[in-house]
Amino acid sequence: MKTNTISKLNETIIKDYPRMHQDDKFVFECHPGVSCFNKCCNDVNIFLTPYDIIRLKNRLGITSSEFLDKYTLLPIDENLRHPIVMLRMNDDNMNCPFVTEKGCSVYEDRPWSCRMYPVGVASPNEAAQSDGNEFYFLLKEEVCKGFEKGTEWTIQSWMENQGVEEYNYYGDLFKEISLHEKLLKLKAIEPVKLEMFYMVCYDIDKFREFLFESSFFKRFDIDNEKKEKMRTDDLELLKFGLEWLRFSLFGEKTIKVREEYLQPV
Ligand code: SF4
Ligand code: SF4
Repeated sequence: MKTNTISKLNETIIKDYPRMHQDDKFVFECHPGVSCFNKCCNDVNIFLTPYDIIRLKNRLGITSSEFLDKYTLLPIDENLRHPIVMLRMNDDNMNCPFVTEKGCSVYEDRPWSCRMYPVGVASPNEAAQSDGNEFYFLLKEEVCKGFEKGTEWTIQSWMENQGVEEYNYYGDLFKEISLHEKLLKLKAIEPVKLEMFYMVCYDIDKFREFLFESSFFKRFDIDNEKKEKMRTDDLELLKFGLEWLRFSLFGEKTIKVREEYLQPV
């Protein structure tokens, strides 16, 4: 897996890519008539966010566990503080499993990074390696002819056009965990906590089973209405799961323990 490539790309972005902000402009057009149509959906590193996985597994009508087994890879890198999930390209031709002759077969639910392309975002963590300000940049892949002519966009109008608002909302909630100062300071997370992180963030149907088929609700005081929503609503469950991670990984008081289960201090 190309984790070296990923860190090298991050270093290059920090050093060499021109920094852009929301009002900066660029010209770009992508449609089935371009000579490079579909070429960018081959041999590409696509990180999946928790929200991406929920959109895709629901689109495909399968569980999160089935989705993770069939469509993802877990790159291993000692520099990673937590598990990350990548879309697995087909073994035979390295195409994305969702690309067809007519284009993306999951277009309405395509991942955040597919929506954002050609715009990339340096995370606060990456930006902190220079002046600390978050910035955007253009990823001009050699194969991509989309820059030759077309509509003039600002970064902001591109993001609106690509419908990333909800993706960004859940992405920001996820970053509160993945970029949490306590997590960044840790040398390693205990295996049991890593498993919890993976289940909450990526395997949401398994997390639901864990909550509803264990003594969880006996031990923690969760509002009934919220609990009932979580039975069927993946996004409600994800929001709760991220609060649970703040409690279980960082000791924040985001979840109330029932009195009878409180440990005497
Ligand atoms: S999910 Fe769709 S847009 Fe993204 S790489 Fe696959 S086919 Fe292309
Ligand atoms: S390579 Fe660029 S222009 Fe061509 S299909 Fe992909 S995003 Fe569109």
